[in-house]
Amino acid sequence: MAGELGPCFLCPRGCGVNRLEGEIGFCGAGTLMCVAKMAPHYWEEPCISGTRGSGAVFFSGCNLRCVYCQNADISWQRKGRELTSSQLAHSFLSLQEQGVHNINLVTAAPYVPQVIEALDQARGLGLNLPVVYNSSGYESVETLKLLAGYVDVYLPDFKYVSASVSRRLSRADDYFPVVTAAIKEMLSQIGPKPVFDTDGIITRGIVIRHLVLPGYLSETRKVLTWIKANVPRTVPVSLMAQYVPYHQASLYPPLGRHLRPKEYDLALAAFFDLGLECGFAQEISAATTDFIPDWDAK
Ligand code: SF4
Repeated sequence: MAGELGPCFLCPRGCGVNRLEGEIGFCGAGTLMCVAKMAPHYWEEPCISGTRGSGAVFFSGCNLRCVYCQNADISWQRKGRELTSSQLAHSFLSLQEQGVHNINLVTAAPYVPQVIEALDQARGLGLNLPVVYNSSGYESVETLKLLAGYVDVYLPDFKYVSASVSRRLSRADDYFPVVTAAIKEMLSQIGPKPVFDTDGIITRGIVIRHLVLPGYLSETRKVLTWIKANVPRTVPVSLMAQYVPYHQASLYPPLGRHLRPKEYDLALAAFFDLGLECGFAQEISAATTDFIPDWDAK
Protein backbone atom coordinates (compact mmCIF):
# COMPACT_ATOMS: atom_id res chain seq x y z
CA MET A 1 0.00 0.00 0.00
CA ALA A 2 2.96 2.32 0.60
CA GLY A 3 3.40 2.15 -3.18
CA GLU A 4 0.62 4.72 -3.43
CA LEU A 5 3.13 7.33 -2.23
CA GLY A 6 5.31 7.02 -5.27
CA PRO A 7 4.16 8.63 -7.41
CA CYS A 8 1.63 10.30 -5.12
CA PHE A 9 -1.83 11.05 -6.47
CA LEU A 10 -3.58 10.57 -3.13
CA CYS A 11 -5.43 13.87 -3.21
CA PRO A 12 -6.83 16.27 -5.82
CA ARG A 13 -3.52 18.18 -6.00
CA GLY A 14 -2.20 15.20 -7.95
CA CYS A 15 1.44 16.20 -7.46
CA GLY A 16 2.83 12.92 -8.84
CA VAL A 17 5.98 13.22 -6.71
CA ASN A 18 7.75 10.11 -5.47
CA ARG A 19 7.48 10.44 -1.70
CA LEU A 20 9.24 7.11 -1.26
CA GLU A 21 12.38 8.72 -2.70
CA GLY A 22 12.23 11.91 -0.67
CA GLU A 23 10.30 14.09 -3.10
CA ILE A 24 7.86 16.47 -1.45
CA GLY A 25 4.56 17.67 -2.89
CA PHE A 26 2.14 20.46 -2.01
CA CYS A 27 1.24 18.96 1.40
CA GLY A 28 4.85 18.66 2.55
CA ALA A 29 4.36 15.05 3.62
CA GLY A 30 7.18 12.55 3.24
CA THR A 31 7.28 8.77 3.50
CA LEU A 32 6.65 8.54 7.22
CA MET A 33 3.64 10.08 8.91
CA CYS A 34 4.23 13.25 10.90
CA VAL A 35 2.04 13.85 13.96
CA ALA A 36 1.85 17.02 16.07
CA LYS A 37 -0.40 15.83 18.88
CA MET A 38 -2.22 12.72 20.05
CA ALA A 39 -4.49 13.35 23.03
CA PRO A 40 -8.07 13.41 24.30
CA HIS A 41 -9.67 16.48 22.70
CA TYR A 42 -12.70 18.21 24.20
CA TRP A 43 -13.56 20.91 21.67
CA GLU A 44 -15.29 19.02 18.88
CA GLU A 45 -19.09 18.86 18.60
CA PRO A 46 -20.64 17.37 21.79
CA CYS A 47 -21.58 14.13 20.02
CA ILE A 48 -17.90 13.61 19.17
CA SER A 49 -16.07 14.89 22.25
CA GLY A 50 -18.64 13.69 24.80
CA THR A 51 -17.43 13.76 28.37
CA ARG A 52 -14.26 11.71 27.97
CA GLY A 53 -12.88 13.44 24.93
CA SER A 54 -12.22 12.45 21.35
CA GLY A 55 -8.95 10.61 20.74
CA ALA A 56 -7.50 13.20 18.36
CA VAL A 57 -4.49 12.51 16.21
CA PHE A 58 -3.39 15.76 14.57
CA PHE A 59 -1.36 15.02 11.44
CA SER A 60 1.19 17.54 10.20
CA GLY A 61 1.18 18.65 6.60
CA CYS A 62 -1.98 19.54 4.70
CA ASN A 63 -3.08 19.33 1.10
CA LEU A 64 -5.26 22.47 1.34
CA ARG A 65 -3.38 24.98 3.54
CA CYS A 66 -5.87 27.86 3.85
CA VAL A 67 -4.33 31.28 4.42
CA TYR A 68 -6.26 31.69 7.71
CA CYS A 69 -5.59 28.18 9.06
CA GLN A 70 -5.74 28.12 12.86
CA ASN A 71 -3.50 25.06 12.77
CA ALA A 72 -0.92 26.69 10.49
CA ASP A 73 1.92 25.64 12.77
CA ILE A 74 1.31 22.08 11.72
CA SER A 75 -0.47 22.42 8.37
CA TRP A 76 2.07 24.84 6.87
CA GLN A 77 5.17 24.33 9.00
CA ARG A 78 4.84 20.61 9.73
CA LYS A 79 5.71 20.73 13.40
CA GLY A 80 5.60 17.27 14.90
CA ARG A 81 7.43 14.00 14.95
CA GLU A 82 7.58 11.18 12.47
CA LEU A 83 6.19 7.78 13.28
CA THR A 84 5.54 4.43 11.63
CA SER A 85 2.21 2.68 11.13
CA SER A 86 3.06 0.34 13.99
CA GLN A 87 3.77 3.24 16.33
CA LEU A 88 0.50 4.87 15.30
CA ALA A 89 -1.40 1.63 15.97
CA HIS A 90 -0.04 1.56 19.51
CA SER A 91 -0.95 5.23 19.95
CA PHE A 92 -4.55 4.39 19.00
CA LEU A 93 -4.56 1.71 21.69
CA SER A 94 -3.07 4.12 24.22
CA LEU A 95 -5.88 6.59 23.51
CA GLN A 96 -8.42 3.80 23.91
CA GLU A 97 -6.91 2.94 27.31
CA GLN A 98 -7.35 6.60 28.31
CA GLY A 99 -11.11 6.17 27.82
CA VAL A 100 -11.78 8.39 24.80
CA HIS A 101 -15.01 7.91 22.83
CA ASN A 102 -13.40 7.50 19.41
CA ILE A 103 -10.24 7.82 17.33
CA ASN A 104 -10.30 11.17 15.54
CA LEU A 105 -7.99 11.40 12.50
CA VAL A 106 -7.42 15.11 11.86
CA THR A 107 -6.20 15.98 8.34
CA ALA A 108 -4.99 12.50 7.50
CA ALA A 109 -5.43 12.83 3.71
CA PRO A 110 -1.70 12.69 2.84
CA TYR A 111 -1.25 9.56 4.95
CA VAL A 112 -4.27 7.39 4.14
CA PRO A 113 -2.28 4.24 3.16
CA GLN A 114 -0.22 4.32 6.36
CA VAL A 115 -3.29 5.08 8.50
CA ILE A 116 -5.06 2.05 7.03
CA GLU A 117 -2.06 -0.12 7.91
CA ALA A 118 -2.17 1.27 11.45
CA LEU A 119 -5.90 0.64 11.79
CA ASP A 120 -5.52 -2.95 10.54
CA GLN A 121 -2.83 -3.55 13.12
CA ALA A 122 -4.69 -1.80 15.95
CA ARG A 123 -7.95 -3.66 15.25
CA GLY A 124 -5.99 -6.92 15.50
CA LEU A 125 -4.68 -5.80 18.88
CA GLY A 126 -8.10 -4.89 20.29
CA LEU A 127 -9.03 -1.42 19.04
CA ASN A 128 -12.81 -1.29 19.13
CA LEU A 129 -13.61 2.43 19.02
CA PRO A 130 -15.38 4.21 16.14
CA VAL A 131 -13.02 6.00 13.78
CA VAL A 132 -13.72 9.64 12.87
CA TYR A 133 -12.18 11.09 9.68
CA ASN A 134 -11.85 14.83 10.24
CA SER A 135 -11.16 16.51 6.92
CA SER A 136 -10.87 19.76 5.00
CA GLY A 137 -13.18 18.17 2.46
CA TYR A 138 -10.48 18.43 -0.23
CA GLU A 139 -10.32 14.69 -0.82
CA SER A 140 -10.20 12.50 -3.87
CA VAL A 141 -13.02 9.99 -4.25
CA GLU A 142 -10.51 7.24 -5.11
CA THR A 143 -8.68 7.72 -1.81
CA LEU A 144 -11.92 7.90 0.15
CA LYS A 145 -12.86 4.53 -1.35
CA LEU A 146 -9.74 3.07 0.31
CA LEU A 147 -11.23 4.14 3.65
CA ALA A 148 -14.56 2.34 3.17
CA GLY A 149 -15.00 -0.04 6.10
CA TYR A 150 -12.34 1.76 8.16
CA VAL A 151 -14.15 5.03 8.88
CA ASP A 152 -17.35 5.16 10.91
CA VAL A 153 -17.89 8.92 11.08
CA TYR A 154 -16.94 11.46 8.42
CA LEU A 155 -16.44 15.04 9.57
CA PRO A 156 -15.81 17.04 6.38
CA ASP A 157 -15.49 20.80 6.13
CA PHE A 158 -17.46 22.51 3.39
CA LYS A 159 -15.74 25.88 3.12
CA TYR A 160 -16.78 27.68 -0.07
CA VAL A 161 -18.61 27.38 -3.36
CA SER A 162 -17.10 30.12 -5.56
CA ALA A 163 -13.90 29.24 -7.38
CA SER A 164 -12.63 32.83 -6.99
CA VAL A 165 -12.86 32.49 -3.20
CA SER A 166 -11.33 29.01 -2.95
CA ARG A 167 -8.52 30.17 -5.25
CA ARG A 168 -7.83 33.23 -3.13
CA LEU A 169 -7.98 31.55 0.28
CA SER A 170 -6.87 27.97 -0.41
CA ARG A 171 -5.22 27.97 -3.85
CA ALA A 172 -7.82 25.44 -4.99
CA ASP A 173 -10.03 26.55 -7.88
CA ASP A 174 -11.71 23.16 -7.83
CA TYR A 175 -12.62 23.07 -4.13
CA PHE A 176 -16.38 23.08 -4.77
CA PRO A 177 -16.55 20.19 -7.27
CA VAL A 178 -14.06 18.25 -5.15
CA VAL A 179 -15.81 18.69 -1.80
CA THR A 180 -19.25 17.95 -3.19
CA ALA A 181 -18.03 14.74 -4.86
CA ALA A 182 -16.31 13.81 -1.59
CA ILE A 183 -19.46 14.36 0.48
CA LYS A 184 -21.47 12.22 -1.94
CA GLU A 185 -18.89 9.42 -1.63
CA MET A 186 -18.99 9.69 2.18
CA LEU A 187 -22.77 9.47 2.09
CA SER A 188 -22.65 6.41 -0.14
CA GLN A 189 -20.30 4.67 2.32
CA ILE A 190 -22.00 5.62 5.57
CA GLY A 191 -25.63 6.33 4.74
CA PRO A 192 -27.65 9.42 5.63
CA LYS A 193 -28.86 8.53 9.10
CA PRO A 194 -26.52 9.09 12.04
CA VAL A 195 -26.35 6.47 14.78
CA PHE A 196 -25.74 7.48 18.40
CA ASP A 197 -24.86 5.35 21.42
CA THR A 198 -26.63 5.59 24.76
CA ASP A 199 -24.31 8.45 25.81
CA GLY A 200 -25.29 10.48 22.74
CA ILE A 201 -21.96 9.87 20.99
CA ILE A 202 -22.14 9.43 17.24
CA THR A 203 -20.92 5.99 16.24
CA ARG A 204 -21.77 6.17 12.54
CA GLY A 205 -22.67 9.08 10.30
CA ILE A 206 -21.59 12.32 8.70
CA VAL A 207 -21.42 15.80 10.20
CA ILE A 208 -20.73 18.59 7.68
CA ARG A 209 -18.88 21.57 9.10
CA HIS A 210 -18.95 25.10 7.80
CA LEU A 211 -16.79 27.83 9.32
CA VAL A 212 -18.46 31.21 8.87
CA LEU A 213 -15.81 33.65 7.62
CA PRO A 214 -15.89 37.43 8.16
CA GLY A 215 -17.15 39.18 5.05
CA TYR A 216 -18.04 35.96 3.24
CA LEU A 217 -21.66 35.46 4.22
CA SER A 218 -22.59 34.94 0.57
CA GLU A 219 -20.40 31.82 0.57
CA THR A 220 -22.17 30.57 3.71
CA ARG A 221 -25.53 30.98 1.98
CA LYS A 222 -24.28 29.15 -1.13
CA VAL A 223 -22.88 26.27 0.95
CA LEU A 224 -26.10 25.88 2.92
CA THR A 225 -28.17 26.08 -0.26
CA TRP A 226 -26.17 23.23 -1.82
CA ILE A 227 -26.55 21.16 1.33
CA LYS A 228 -30.29 21.76 1.39
CA ALA A 229 -30.64 20.62 -2.23
CA ASN A 230 -28.27 17.65 -2.12
CA VAL A 231 -27.91 16.20 1.37
CA PRO A 232 -30.59 14.30 3.30
CA ARG A 233 -31.98 16.41 6.12
CA THR A 234 -30.91 13.81 8.70
CA VAL A 235 -27.26 14.80 8.18
CA PRO A 236 -26.23 17.36 10.83
CA VAL A 237 -24.59 20.62 9.76
CA SER A 238 -22.19 22.28 12.19
CA LEU A 239 -22.24 26.05 11.68
CA MET A 240 -19.04 27.26 13.27
CA ALA A 241 -18.42 30.71 14.75
CA GLN A 242 -14.89 30.05 15.98
CA TYR A 243 -12.97 31.95 13.30
CA VAL A 244 -9.94 33.84 14.60
CA PRO A 245 -7.60 35.91 12.41
CA TYR A 246 -4.50 33.76 12.30
CA HIS A 247 -1.47 33.04 10.14
CA GLN A 248 -1.71 35.13 6.93
CA ALA A 249 -5.30 36.28 7.53
CA SER A 250 -4.41 39.97 7.83
CA LEU A 251 -3.06 39.90 4.25
CA TYR A 252 -6.49 38.86 2.94
CA PRO A 253 -9.03 41.48 4.04
CA PRO A 254 -11.55 41.27 5.58
CA LEU A 255 -10.13 38.13 7.16
CA GLY A 256 -7.94 40.21 9.45
CA ARG A 257 -10.83 40.80 11.85
CA HIS A 258 -13.06 38.58 13.98
CA LEU A 259 -16.51 37.48 12.90
CA ARG A 260 -19.15 39.99 14.03
CA PRO A 261 -22.03 38.59 16.13
CA LYS A 262 -24.44 40.02 13.56
CA GLU A 263 -22.72 38.04 10.80
CA TYR A 264 -23.13 34.81 12.72
CA ASP A 265 -26.76 35.64 13.45
CA LEU A 266 -27.33 36.10 9.71
CA ALA A 267 -25.66 32.76 9.03
CA LEU A 268 -28.00 31.08 11.53
CA ALA A 269 -30.95 32.87 9.92
CA ALA A 270 -29.91 31.51 6.52
CA PHE A 271 -29.77 28.01 8.00
CA PHE A 272 -33.34 28.25 9.30
CA ASP A 273 -34.69 30.18 6.30
CA LEU A 274 -33.61 27.28 4.08
CA GLY A 275 -35.54 24.87 6.27
CA LEU A 276 -32.48 23.09 7.60
CA GLU A 277 -33.24 21.53 10.95
CA CYS A 278 -30.44 19.30 12.12
CA GLY A 279 -27.17 20.79 13.25
CA PHE A 280 -24.90 22.45 15.76
CA ALA A 281 -24.32 26.11 16.53
CA GLN A 282 -21.51 27.73 18.52
CA GLU A 283 -21.29 30.59 20.97
CA ILE A 284 -19.35 33.43 19.38
CA SER A 285 -17.11 33.26 22.47
CA ALA A 286 -15.65 30.11 20.89
CA ALA A 287 -13.60 32.45 18.68
CA THR A 288 -10.38 32.35 20.67
CA THR A 289 -6.95 30.86 20.17
CA ASP A 290 -7.31 29.24 23.61
CA PHE A 291 -8.76 26.24 21.81
CA ILE A 292 -5.67 25.69 19.67
CA PRO A 293 -3.70 22.81 21.20
CA ASP A 294 -0.03 22.97 22.13
CA TRP A 295 1.77 21.22 19.30
CA ASP A 296 4.12 19.31 21.58
CA ALA A 297 4.07 16.05 19.59
CA LYS A 298 2.89 14.16 22.70
S1 SF4 B 1 -1.07 13.90 -0.78
FE1 SF4 B 1 0.46 15.54 -0.87
S2 SF4 B 1 2.02 14.85 -2.35
FE2 SF4 B 1 0.20 13.54 -2.61
S3 SF4 B 1 -0.97 14.51 -4.25
FE3 SF4 B 1 -1.77 15.35 -2.33
S4 SF4 B 1 -0.59 17.23 -1.92
FE4 SF4 B 1 0.50 16.04 -3.49
